[in-house]
Amino acid sequence: MINRVKENLKRVRCYHSATLLDSTISHAQKEELSYLAFLDYFLEQECHYRNQTSINRNIKACHLPNIKTFDDFDFKYQHAVSKRTIAEWKTFDWLDKRENKIFMGPPGVGKTHVAIALSYEALKTGYKVIFFTMNKLIDEMLLAAYNNEFKKWLKKISKFDLIIIDEIGYLPIKQESSNLFFQLISELYEFRSIILTSNKLFKEWGSAFGDSVITTAILDRILHYSETIIMNGDSYRMKGKNKK
Ligand code: ADP
Ligand code: MG
Repeated sequence: MINRVKENLKRVRCYHSATLLDSTISHAQKEELSYLAFLDYFLEQECHYRNQTSINRNIKACHLPNIKTFDDFDFKYQHAVSKRTIAEWKTFDWLDKRENKIFMGPPGVGKTHVAIALSYEALKTGYKVIFFTMNKLIDEMLLAAYNNEFKKWLKKISKFDLIIIDEIGYLPIKQESSNLFFQLISELYEFRSIILTSNKLFKEWGSAFGDSVITTAILDRILHYSETIIMNGDSYRMKGKNKK
C-alpha cells in the first residue's frame, strides 16, 4: 500500500511528502499521534518544504550580484543605520505599505550592501524581489521597447513586491531611457516598493536624467511614500588603507 500512497502523493504534487512518507509514518507511530495530529504534521511538513522551494526560486529570480547580510555589516563604521532600524525594517511594514527607501551617499559607504541585505531578508520572508543596477535596468527597458514589448516587460516587473535599482546617477541617462524610467516609476507608484541607491543628491538628479520636467515627475512619485537614508563617511573599501 505504501507504494500506492507514494504514487498518489506524486500525482497530487506532494513530492516532499512522497519522499518523506516512510519517516513521517515512523514518527507518527513513535509519537502515537492521533489522526488529526498526524494529518497536521504531514501537511505542515509539506507546506514548509513548499515555502522553502518557493523562497529558493525567488532568490534565483532576484539576480542579486552577491549575498551581503546584516551579520557582516559593521554598524560602528556606518551610523546611518543601526541594529534597531534594521530590526524595524525587517518587519516589512514599509513593504506592505508600498513605501520606498532611498540610500544616498558617496561611493563605498555601504549603500549596495544594505540594499542587498534588506533584499535578502525580504526574500527569506517570502517576498518577491528583483535587483537591477541602473545600467542593467536601462538596457532591459531599451531592449523591451525595441522589441515592442515594453508594456509586457512592465507587467513582468510589477509582479515583484520589491524592485531594487542600484547606482542611479553614476552615468548620464539619455532622454529615451528617462522616458521609459518614468513609465516604470509610474507603473510601480503606490503599488510596489522600490529601493534606490544613489551617489547624487536629489537636486543633482536633473543632470543625471538630462530633463528637469521628467526628473521632477519621477521624484514626485518616488518621494511621495518614502524614507531617505543619507549615508556618509569614508569608503569602506579604503578602510585601514590610510593608516600609517
Ligand atoms: P556603495 O554601494 O555605497 O558604493 P558598497 O555597499 O558596495 O558601497 O560597499 C563597498 C564594499 O564595502 C562592499 O564590499 C561592502 O560589503 C563593504 N562595506 C561597506 N560598508 C560596510 C560596513 N559598514 N560593514 C561591512 N562592510 C561594508
Ligand atoms: Mg553601490
